Amino acid sequence: MKRSSFERYKLKKTLEVLEKKKGFHTELVSLYIPPDRPISDVTNYLKQEYGTASNIKSKSTRKNVMDAIQKILALLKNIPRPPPTGLAVFCGAIPTNGQGTEKMELTTIVPPEPINTYKYHCNNKFFLDPLKGMLVEKDTYGIIVLDRSEADFAILKGNHLEILKKITSGAPGKHRAGGQSARRFERLIEQAGHEFFKRSGDYANEFFLEIPDLKGILIGGPGPSKNKFAESSYFDYRLKNAILGIVDLSYTGSSGIDELIDKSRDILQNVRYSEEKTLVQKFLTMLVKDDTLVAYGEKEVRQALDQGAVDTLLLSEDLEIFYVTVSCPNCNYSEELTIKKDQLPSLEQEIQNRNCPSCDSSLLSIKTVKPIIDEFGELAEQTGANVEIISSETEEGQQLKQAFGGIAALLRYSIEG
Ligand code: ZN
Repeated sequence: MKRSSFERYKLKKTLEVLEKKKGFHTELVSLYIPPDRPISDVTNYLKQEYGTASNIKSKSTRKNVMDAIQKILALLKNIPRPPPTGLAVFCGAIPTNGQGTEKMELTTIVPPEPINTYKYHCNNKFFLDPLKGMLVEKDTYGIIVLDRSEADFAILKGNHLEILKKITSGAPGKHRAGGQSARRFERLIEQAGHEFFKRSGDYANEFFLEIPDLKGILIGGPGPSKNKFAESSYFDYRLKNAILGIVDLSYTGSSGIDELIDKSRDILQNVRYSEEKTLVQKFLTMLVKDDTLVAYGEKEVRQALDQGAVDTLLLSEDLEIFYVTVSCPNCNYSEELTIKKDQLPSLEQEIQNRNCPSCDSSLLSIKTVKPIIDEFGELAEQTGANVEIISSETEEGQQLKQAFGGIAALLRYSIEG
């Protein structure tokens, strides 16, 4: 399953918020429900935990744990079965301002990947490791470490390394046997090298050509063999085109593979950067060619989203703009505003001192504050558009943020007029 950068962004932000929450004691409940676990099992389990919790000595901890379990039980009543990837639930009394100010909070997350293990966890922090693991890039890379005497093949998928095969060249040693002519010795070496490269190339084809989402190939090794091999025609041109880097190493074998991954961090990060560059460049090219097929800025893009005309939405990752709704509970008056993060305190102040323009009551208040990335990202997903979160690490990313307000879209069709 391919995950969008928007999904990753949303999960990352939610986890950042949950990570900061701390209870006074071991009273925050984390619950991981795998997709195949019947809700009735979970409910029975929680009822038992509820019974156990009644023995907790500290009165406030006891109350908070029991309240949290009850709140989760109430939630599960409305869920007939877990979603296809399972469900993670976080519930607990979070202090807002010192002891005695705890507020019961509940967060549910439908994870982007299936939950494998059922887990009930009670601590003074939420248990987030299984979800954090899902943030890791799951892109797949082919790895070849090679010198004149051996070659090692591996696949790197996210943080998971799978070592596939080691072959040796059987090349003759550096010193020729007595009586052997120098020419004959050289020919033997050449012959062995040729066969070794050929076998290496065949394995590379066998291992890597079949991988559907292969992001690229990394080649490394001590000495010049890796370069000769990388430039050779011993393996498929598609793999050759996918070579991301040729890296000089001190080792071969599994130490060499580790070294190669370590030295390739920047290369791997650059793969995402170059995707981001390409996306923004596509927008810029279209802007010049036919500007009715692009939109940028908050107002224009929102209009395109409302019409379902957006094909790909580009959002700057550090876009600190919020979408605020202000409403009056007395007469149902409401207004919507877009503000920068640092304008929020002064807006709060202003709303407090202002009366409702419709009924003149003093009840006007801020109802919701939502990051514009979430607001637009969700709108886009509802209409089946791709959402790409673009970092500011590249020149193109900077340009998107500064020249286009951090919001741009490639359209499916022209919406002029
Ligand atoms: Zn009003």
